[in-house]
Amino acid sequence: MAQGIWIFAQHKTGSLSNVTYELLAAAKKLAEAKSSEISAVLFGAGMDDAAADLFKYGADKVIYYDSPELEQFRDDAYANLLADLVKKHEPEILLGSATFYGKALFPRLAALLETGLAADCNGLAVREDGTLVATKPAFGGNVWLTVTFSEQRPQIATLRPKVMPEAEKDDSRSGEAEKPEVPSDLVQSKINVKENVGGGEGSINLTEADIIVAGGRGLKAPENFKLIEELAGALNGAVGASRAVVDADWIEYSHQVGQTGKTVNPKLYIACGISGAIQHLVGMQSSGTIVAVNRDKDAPIFKVANYGIVGDLFEIVPALTEKFRAELK
Ligand SMILES: Cc1cc2nc3c(=O)[nH]c(=O)nc-3n(C[C@H](O)[C@H](O)[C@H](O)COP(=O)(O)OP(=O)(O)OC[C@H]3O[C@@H](n4cnc5c(N)ncnc54)[C@H](O)[C@@H]3O)c2cc1C
Repeated sequence: MAQGIWIFAQHKTGSLSNVTYELLAAAKKLAEAKSSEISAVLFGAGMDDAAADLFKYGADKVIYYDSPELEQFRDDAYANLLADLVKKHEPEILLGSATFYGKALFPRLAALLETGLAADCNGLAVREDGTLVATKPAFGGNVWLTVTFSEQRPQIATLRPKVMPEAEKDDSRSGEAEKPEVPSDLVQSKINVKENVGGGEGSINLTEADIIVAGGRGLKAPENFKLIEELAGALNGAVGASRAVVDADWIEYSHQVGQTGKTVNPKLYIACGISGAIQHLVGMQSSGTIVAVNRDKDAPIFKVANYGIVGDLFEIVPALTEKFRAELK
């Protein structure tokens, strides 16, 4: 019988990502309701320290594959390995993060296991009968879906980054880690990663950022993106963008927020010169506080904004930057 709650731990060159701590917090809530154990699964190279950390943040067991072959994320190999572990251990629930990696990995995994996937969820709970129930927005956030699972196990769900507080560290916790040999037939991949291109020195990961300042076509020209970068810098935030400016080559795709870009969930999202097309809104409307700067008082972005500033961004954005620099010095 399937039992236990698993999380798939994400890391960056051996340091656990914030989303992993969020998953452990989500798993803890479910584990308490079900009186189950939490196991964390981790793939990578040089993973001993990260595996030990997983115990400190709430894992009862850790299973990890540690091999230079797994240094780079490759969704086909990772999915094959994870599917194999799931078949051997039969967890009841498997949680991952709806990050770039999770969005590539989990649909593949669900297909391999012939089970369902509740993707990009905002909430997870267990029903009286112990089964998982996930909630997620759909149709541009106009409706909320409650997702339950049929007979197949595991019940797989991916959680949006930043919808859960991170698990707290307890240095006294430890446990027994399993570090099996990597099955060589399953690690084969059709993907050859040549280079990992980061977001540039000092840049902040959009999906993990607490503050995002985003720019759109209202900026008029690529060189004006520096206004957005300056405001983001003053707030120690990340830079986001609409698709219009990414398509125009004003900024790299990794900054794009929305349906075909990233889903973000910061505490504060400042949209400057962005009209608020539905494809942009689906990627940012669950942000804690939304501030919009637009000279068109009827721009749709104001429908989701908590604070709206109607005016010229070329006056307002530098004024905000100056004010925040002075206040946050
Ligand atoms: C399948 C599909 C997927 C898509 N995916 C995405 C996605 O992931 N992300 C995304 O963003 N879009 C996406 N889009 C595109 C989306 O429909 C919009 O075209 C896009 O979001 C518009 O970008 P924008 O708001 O920057 O530009 P515009 O719609 O042109 O808006 C510019 C805004 O700037 C304001 N403005 C102009 N000058 C000033 C000024 N001086 N001061 C203040 N305000 C000013 C204007 O009033 C206007 O509201 C997608 C579209 C499709 C069809």
